Amino acid sequence: MKNKQVLKYHINAGNGPFFQFLDISHDYYVAAINPDTAFWSLIKKEEIAATLHDRHFVNSFRKSEKKFLTEMNTLRFGLLPAAAYINPTDRCNSNCPYCYLSEESRMNGELLSYENLTIILQKLMIYFSNTVKNARKPDIIFHGAEPLLNADTLFRVITEFKKHFNFGIQTNAILLDSDKIAFIKKNELGIGISLDGTQADINDITRKKWDNTGYFNNSINALEKLRNYNRLNVMCTINSANVRNLPDMVEFLHDYNVSSCMLNMIRRTMEKAESVLPDEDIASSFFIKALDKSHELFRKSGRKIIISNFANIILSIVAPTARNLMCDISPCGGGRCFFAISASGDIYPCSEFLSIKDFNAGNIFTRNIENVLTSPPFLAMLDRTCEKIDDCKNCSIKHYCGAPCPAEAFSRKLNILNKGTFCNFYIEQAKYAFRLIADQKADDFLPDGWDSSITASYQYEKK
Ligand code: SF4
Ligand code: SF4
Repeated sequence: MKNKQVLKYHINAGNGPFFQFLDISHDYYVAAINPDTAFWSLIKKEEIAATLHDRHFVNSFRKSEKKFLTEMNTLRFGLLPAAAYINPTDRCNSNCPYCYLSEESRMNGELLSYENLTIILQKLMIYFSNTVKNARKPDIIFHGAEPLLNADTLFRVITEFKKHFNFGIQTNAILLDSDKIAFIKKNELGIGISLDGTQADINDITRKKWDNTGYFNNSINALEKLRNYNRLNVMCTINSANVRNLPDMVEFLHDYNVSSCMLNMIRRTMEKAESVLPDEDIASSFFIKALDKSHELFRKSGRKIIISNFANIILSIVAPTARNLMCDISPCGGGRCFFAISASGDIYPCSEFLSIKDFNAGNIFTRNIENVLTSPPFLAMLDRTCEKIDDCKNCSIKHYCGAPCPAEAFSRKLNILNKGTFCNFYIEQAKYAFRLIADQKADDFLPDGWDSSITASYQYEKK
């Protein structure tokens, strides 16, 4: 029978749009993705053939394709740094095997003086006044090594500069006593606590001090004192010791009224991380079980626990420009949306590079920040796009994954133009996110009000 519909464009031919089909392991749907724009559509399996000659669908996509590409390009190449991660010390009271800092640095590293930290913040204030507008404040995250080893200096500068920056602290919680928690709450600081297990015998395999004793109890005391504090985030690094504990971890944190956590895959930037590397398939499976657990808890209690790194992947699909974290896009956010400063003032694209001297882009005490941001290490980061990485260039989910992480790729293969280690782990997450969208459950995995300040730019529903 002659098809009466006249196609202006043909999918996957001539000058027509290009769609890749992704099996999302759903009973009824597959995803059709235009990888360059990250545009997607869920299509009933029995309607794939019909979609290929659905002229409304094709023409509608074509009409908006340029706009999608512009939005994606702005997100990938048009943003300016709005945050800095500062190590107020390179020392640490913990000896985690997957840390991106060397043992030498964590044992004997520098401690930033009040005077020098003040100079750094003054320079950042001037720099960010040109990049962060509209009454927004740039973010400063005091990061590790362990920032609370320099707590007096930290709290002094936070008091003096809080009008100019949003401050956050990422800590292992060993030194997080009642006084410090009172200061954090009073100043409404963001606080991230590292915790790798629901029991000491899991947590303390990776989170232990130099004398090999764990500090699970310190973390739990801090969690207790921070119960209901809405700027708390708990960061858990997935490793061989805790991989099967992830669903329990979600329940454990939910019991502590934690509203947001991260289950981050271990980075293989340092050799020692290999000793606690999880099996990728097991990690994917237990990560998905942890997501299921978070949903079950929400359904039972009406209270969400957001797994932020996964929420970011849902956002990368449903609202790409609203995503917050920057590991799942290429170029990644390191050196582009934020940068890191060591305790000696050296600037790197991201904390993950702090032990990789090739990516030391200059010192903040002697160089202009603007010059640092156009130095070869930063330009190399901007140049690290999925399109230049084998496998990733043809991957349908390249703009939901980003092929993390360049620091890991460089330290393992001396070239950032390699793909991330845990490719399948990211594929499983993207598929799960699409299944949630198909089943209209994605909102349950996102913070309430996530869409209050965004407007839908495109919606197509088959008539
Ligand atoms: S992908 Fe790696 S280098 Fe990039 S922001 Fe994430 S941790 Fe940093
Ligand atoms: S790392 Fe794997 S999933 Fe991610 S963009 Fe590359 S090929 Fe795709």
